[in-house]
Amino acid sequence: MIHVTVWNEFRHEKSSAKVAAIYPNGMHETIAAFLRAQPDIEARTATLDEPEHGLTQEVLDGTDVLIWWGHMAHGEVSDEIVERVYNRVMQGMGLVVLHSGHASKIFRKLMGTNTHKLRWREDGEMARLWVMDLAHPIAQGLEDHFDLPIEETYGEHFDIPKPDDLVFVSWVPGGEVFRSGCCWHRGLGRVFYFQPGHETCPSYHDKNVQLVITNAVRWAFRPRPIYQYVTDHTTALKDISLGKGE
Ligand code: ZN
Repeated sequence: MIHVTVWNEFRHEKSSAKVAAIYPNGMHETIAAFLRAQPDIEARTATLDEPEHGLTQEVLDGTDVLIWWGHMAHGEVSDEIVERVYNRVMQGMGLVVLHSGHASKIFRKLMGTNTHKLRWREDGEMARLWVMDLAHPIAQGLEDHFDLPIEETYGEHFDIPKPDDLVFVSWVPGGEVFRSGCCWHRGLGRVFYFQPGHETCPSYHDKNVQLVITNAVRWAFRPRPIYQYVTDHTTALKDISLGKGE
């Protein structure tokens, strides 16, 4: 089983009737629900206002893949918890960062970019997501593109380091393009950023978006290392006296 924790700051749903109508139990519950329908995934949720943001060391130790949605309260996420999440990614926990999570403390720390900037506007446009890597595990089951009838527009330039894999590029009628699905390796962990999911758009109810997030969970899952690895001064593994010029 892949143990997933879906983290959501869970503020827009409480303060906006429009958002609550789309995600009555919070978008974390919508995301957890479609993941729970998979036979190989167990999903729990955590939210900002729980003690330790719901991300105790015990929860993180039991999490194989963490999903992150945040927007209006990035600054309220404690640095101690960010450090805890970061350390788990280094140990091999997968991280799937959604939409406005591009500006979260954890994503910026992992990317090493000091800014989190991108071009954006909210004009009620459709978005077309093109698959850049048809053989990539995250794109399995998709056609070569899919459309979302309404999404917030994100456009280049997106201040990220060059992705290890570029899985999606989005296009909108207004002319922008955006690297909307990107993979990186950090420590033993895998990180995927996926753009759809503005709070007033129903994107997490979309079957293609659900498929991408489900695929991303399986891609980001790493079986736990069963060995101890050395990252310190070491002695030779074999007798190397013959190689020393004697
Ligand atoms: Zn947004």
